[in-house]
Amino acid sequence: MENQQKRINVVRGDITRLAVQAIVNAANTTLRGGGGVDGAIHRAAGPQLLEACLEIGGCPTGEARLTRGYHLPAEYVIHTVGPVYSGGRRREAELLRSCYHESLKLAAQNAIASIAFPCISTGAYGYPKEEACEIAISEVIAWLTAHHSPRTVTFCCFAEEDAELYRRRLAEIA
Ligand code: ADP
Repeated sequence: MENQQKRINVVRGDITRLAVQAIVNAANTTLRGGGGVDGAIHRAAGPQLLEACLEIGGCPTGEARLTRGYHLPAEYVIHTVGPVYSGGRRREAELLRSCYHESLKLAAQNAIASIAFPCISTGAYGYPKEEACEIAISEVIAWLTAHHSPRTVTFCCFAEEDAELYRRRLAEIA
């Protein structure tokens, strides 16, 4: 556990500015762009990102798809679709866990060394932040315990409050 925590960073800030090899986008099933982090990533990457997404055609909830990063500092974008939270009885936890798992799997398959995640589903999709944080951290640690790749995982929190939540949770389980 301690070893895996050395491979995890928490930063507060804008994920479009991170010079990691891949950033994860909290996309929607159409992959046509949207608000929040999705909009920010499309604006920063430029119109070629939308072209690549349209070519892929869409992505089911809980799955992930890879594109290049175009004008982003990140070489790749991994687009994953989090669940819309509607009370917790529609497999939301399983689907959110799957977003982290499938993104990490895609990263490993493409020999991506460093990846950054936003707080998937916790904006417009309304997932309770503490529960989402617990799922994100437990799935990332489970992955890192079993795999060498990616080497490092960054949780990129837009709000300081979210970064605190992640730091606290990681300290609790250290
Ligand atoms: P979702 O639809 O999956 O809930 P949102 O984009 O609405 O996606 O929100 C997901 C998270 O992304 C929220 O915690 C929001 O604060 C955060 N966020 C928004 N813009 C950025 C950004 N530029 N970089 C990192 N995180 C961001």
